Amino acid sequence: MKIAFIGLGNMGGGMAANLVKAGHEVRAFDLSEDALKSAKDSGCDTFTAAKDAVGGVEAVVSMLPNGQIVKSVYENDVIGHAPDGAVLLDCSTIDVATAREVISAAEEAGYDMVDAPVSGGIAAAAGGTLTFMVGGTDKAFDRAKPILEAMGKAVIHAGDAGNGQAAKICNNMLLAIQMIGTCEAFGMAEKLGLDPQTFYDISSVSSGQCWSMTSYCPVPGVGPKSPADNEYKGGFATALMLKDLKLAMEAAQTADAGTPLGQHAKELYEKFADEHGSLDFSAIGRSL
Ligand code: NAD
Repeated sequence: MKIAFIGLGNMGGGMAANLVKAGHEVRAFDLSEDALKSAKDSGCDTFTAAKDAVGGVEAVVSMLPNGQIVKSVYENDVIGHAPDGAVLLDCSTIDVATAREVISAAEEAGYDMVDAPVSGGIAAAAGGTLTFMVGGTDKAFDRAKPILEAMGKAVIHAGDAGNGQAAKICNNMLLAIQMIGTCEAFGMAEKLGLDPQTFYDISSVSSGQCWSMTSYCPVPGVGPKSPADNEYKGGFATALMLKDLKLAMEAAQTADAGTPLGQHAKELYEKFADEHGSLDFSAIGRSL
């Protein structure tokens, strides 16, 4: 297929390269010259205007920093410029309301469109092992699925437009709460005289077991290899976790959902991000 790709940063660069590897003709656009150069090296055709990149394509994929940018790119450069009948896929993490607004504008103009945010970081984007949570009509999902499969290991239909974003922020809110809880438990265990490895051996096979403990343990030298074993470098940056928690709390307010622990997690990550935004989110235990 002929596919336009807009936003070739840490995530989008690897994703676009995987579309090329799958045999697609990829027309890339980014505001950054460096990003465009890397995309060219990966086999994409590059363009200096989004409107040119979307010319003649069957699909448009975007991976952009936030909702404001996504709205502006789709309203100004994609809707009405991509050919009639093209399917549009926004993979950025943005707020639910903006995702629904942009999809509704695209549908009014006759396009099929999905929100398809991802779970998995830069390594998963490069390796083609992302999980996509997809919101949109059945028809839009069926059209988007084969494109997403070239970039990921799982593609899940979460329901109507915006539900991909809803799934993403609910999942990441739970992850943040669970990680803080895991750090608290390890910290308290140590203060009570329990060796961290011994606590892990017990809790990992008891009712306190969770992903943050057994797949991504925040304590160096305990459990499988994780960013804790690399001084909390790499992994999922605290700043990005904070972004997702802010989106989650905005959505909770709009939907009138009770999220006291989500709110507290956001406040703890806000404080920690002041000085340690680039560290992996599992370093939060340092601030407790
Ligand atoms: P990034 O900052 O590395 O990349 C964003 C790219 O968008 C940049 O290259 C930038 O130049 C480009 N851009 C900005 N405005 C543009 C415009 N108007 N037109 C064209 N290009 C424009 O960010 P990233 O880490 O690749 O993240 C992208 C999205 O993926 C975000 O929504 C983020 O929340 C989400 N995400 C990131 C991760 C991660 O681990 N990095 C994981 C999951 C989801």
